[in-house]
Amino acid sequence: MTAPALLLVEDLWIAYDRIQAVRGVSFAIAEGEIVTLIGANGAGKSSILRTLAGLQPAARGRVLFAGEDLLSLPAHLRTQRGLALVPEGRGIFGTLTVWENLRLAAYARRDAEMEADLERVFRLFPRLAERRHQLGGTLSGGEQQMLAVGRALMSRARLLLLDEPSMGLAPLLVREIFRVLLRLNLSGTTILLVEQNARLALEVAHRAYILETGEITLSGPAAALRRHPRVQAAYLGG
Ligand code: ATP
Repeated sequence: MTAPALLLVEDLWIAYDRIQAVRGVSFAIAEGEIVTLIGANGAGKSSILRTLAGLQPAARGRVLFAGEDLLSLPAHLRTQRGLALVPEGRGIFGTLTVWENLRLAAYARRDAEMEADLERVFRLFPRLAERRHQLGGTLSGGEQQMLAVGRALMSRARLLLLDEPSMGLAPLLVREIFRVLLRLNLSGTTILLVEQNARLALEVAHRAYILETGEITLSGPAAALRRHPRVQAAYLGG
């Protein structure tokens, strides 16, 4: 990474009672990058995303977002600064329509650009446009994931935190979601991607960090990690 960091994480520790889930993790993301965090179940990936979003306190450490200390800001102010979490399980409102879900995600914003942003989301995800009056809970898994990403875009995300976007989706839908993520990245959105599907994550990311029981054990350009024997053995099926 040569550009200055948009997100800088230094010596981050996260604990649940006596469980040290994340132990001294440091990493950086430059503006415009796709960075992926790869690790087995329970390695601490979701905990890191939740702490960055302000949903889980850090036990120790420092996080700077565009130079500003993030850990002292409440979650809603982090959203205002341009940080958006697309949680595992998607977190959409099942009893609200697609349109209402998107409107609600932009509640903190002034209305002037709201319509333009809605149109942008509908252009990226034509399926959502077709289903704008359908209730969130009646969408397919893939459409719910699109809606979850759409919600993050409505908050004008500068950094998207994506937790397992491919989870439970058919391969065709996964490809569609990832195509949109790449388009978003090309238009300037920085992405931190947590994925079980390491193969896919290493295909789309510029750089990657491997997380094992709460610690980063390997990092580097995604293309180099794809060829790394340890990564191949542990995450790419040999
Ligand atoms: P997964 O892919 O299964 O979500 P992960 O890498 O995202 O795994 P985390 O969910 O961050 O891992 O969990 C890291 C560790 O913290 C695990 O040991 C987990 O059991 C523990 N943990 C996570 N959330 C809690 C919680 N709310 N209370 C207690 N322990 C938790």
